[in-house]
Order: sequence, then structure tokens, then C-alpha cells
Amino acid sequence: MKRGLPPCEKTKRIAADCGNPLFVISRKYELFTGTKGMMDTKGIKGDKGQVNMKEAIRHITEIEACGPVQAFYTTAAWNDWQCNEKADLKAYEELGRHFMITPSEIVRIPQTHTAEVRKIKKEDGGDGIIRKAKEGYDGMITDEKGILLCTVEADCVPVYLYDPVKNAIGMVHSGWRGCAGKIAEHAVEGMQNRYGCRPEDIVAALGPCICGSCYEVGEELIDGFAGNFSEITSVIFKPKENGKYLLDLPAAIRYSLIRAGLTEGKIFADPVCTFESGDLCSWRRDHDPAARMLTGIMLSE
Ligand SMILES: [Zn+2]
Repeated sequence: MKRGLPPCEKTKRIAADCGNPLFVISRKYELFTGTKGMMDTKGIKGDKGQVNMKEAIRHITEIEACGPVQAFYTTAAWNDWQCNEKADLKAYEELGRHFMITPSEIVRIPQTHTAEVRKIKKEDGGDGIIRKAKEGYDGMITDEKGILLCTVEADCVPVYLYDPVKNAIGMVHSGWRGCAGKIAEHAVEGMQNRYGCRPEDIVAALGPCICGSCYEVGEELIDGFAGNFSEITSVIFKPKENGKYLLDLPAAIRYSLIRAGLTEGKIFADPVCTFESGDLCSWRRDHDPAARMLTGIMLSE
């Protein structure tokens, strides 16, 4: 079994800067694989049009260390992913080559900020890539190998789930609406009901997202969380002097996963903040509708 490296100094510093006591400092490190194109002025495509995977893809090693599964996100160096618009097929072909699959073996969620989770089968492959995505869900689960479940993010929280016992996975896109609607818990429940997973066996990781020190929201969001998170609203919402609040979305999701039965030590939260990081996509910082990170998880064949 692969072993994760200890957190780098930068990761520790960012975690400390974000001041989030609910974070477990991630042992994530960049495991680089794939072709290495020469960097051009755009910083990503080589002279042969290859993607520099070292710059573009970071693997979630806490998940990958647990079994035959691949979990990753792309950085701002490779942000060709559209949110709900037509997919850039070339980018998904390149991604597919990296993971030795075709675009018809990738599913991209429609991203509509629901709390719904859909069971994905091989025949759903290509949804959101080579044909219009089915709508109405922001989370996916499967126990089928060789199908890549993808979400697209810029500040929202990607949640990776893997049960090494039942060999089932989940991929969740959680903004505040999905979180308030317990989408992460719905994904765990789905894995329980569909694949017989036990929550205590599931390993989870939160990908890069806007941290609790940067996510300024209005008071009205507190009402949105009052129904399902009333017991922790005073923890996840911090009042600011300007009348706004700071919302700690990763902390809420972490709480949500524990409530779903996951073991605290099996939840890895990436403390890297998209808003503060220079090499990740942040809607709040850049307001660039074309800049998105792709997050994905796939059971290996
Ligand atoms: Zn931050």
C-alpha cells in the first residue's frame, strides 16, 4: 500500500493561516504522472499540444492509498472545463488519455446546486461530455469500474468518497445549498442502500475550496442551515464587523459526514484555500466563468 508523505511546510502554513481548527491537516501531496509537455506561454500546453500533467493534475493520495481507485483535481493550469455549458471535448479526450479511458467513460454533473445524488452506471458514461447531462443532481455514486465521475468547481467543495471494502465510490459537488441540503450525507446513504457500504469503512476527502476565513456570506444563509445544521450554526457562521458572516463550508461538510457515520480519522480535509491560492480557480476572486477545476474519482479496472 502506498503511504502518503507528511504535509509540506506550505500546506501546514496555509492550514494555520486559514485558522480552521476543524481541519485535519492533509497529507496530500502532488503525485505527478503522465506526459510532460514543454510549457508554453500559457503555461500548460506543450509544443505538441500535450498537457503538462505535473502542473495540471494533483492526486488525492489519502484516497488512492486505500485501494484501486484514482482521485484527483486539476489546477488553474488546466481550467478548460465548462460548468454547465457544452464540454470542451478535446480537454476531456486529453484527460481520458491520461486515465486510459474515453470521453464516453466520463460523467460530468450538470451542477445545479441540488442536494440530490444519482447512481451512475457504465451506460451513463458521456453524460455532460458528448451529450447533454441529465439534470437534477450534484452527487454521484457507483460501484462500477472504469467510469470517471467528475464535478467542476471554483470555490465549492468537492467531496470524494471511497469504500475499500465494497469497492464503491462517490463524488459530490457541494456549495452552500448542497451542504445545507445534506448532499454529502445523501451520498453516504446512497452507498449504504445501493452497495451495502458501512459508513465506518468509507474514506472521505474534501478537495480544495474556499475556506472559512474567506467565504463571506449574508445573514440569510444562516436560515438556510437552520433546518439541518441548527446545532452548529454558531460554529460555522462567524459574524463580521460589516454585518456579513464568514461561513466555514468545509467544517459543515465534515460535520455532515461524521453525522452520516464516517469515522473522524478517515475524513481528510484539504486545507488549501482556492481563494487564497495562486494556482487554483476561485470564482469569488476572479469572477471568471470559464475558469473551473475538474475533480474526479474512478475505480480502476
Ligand atoms: Zn481562505
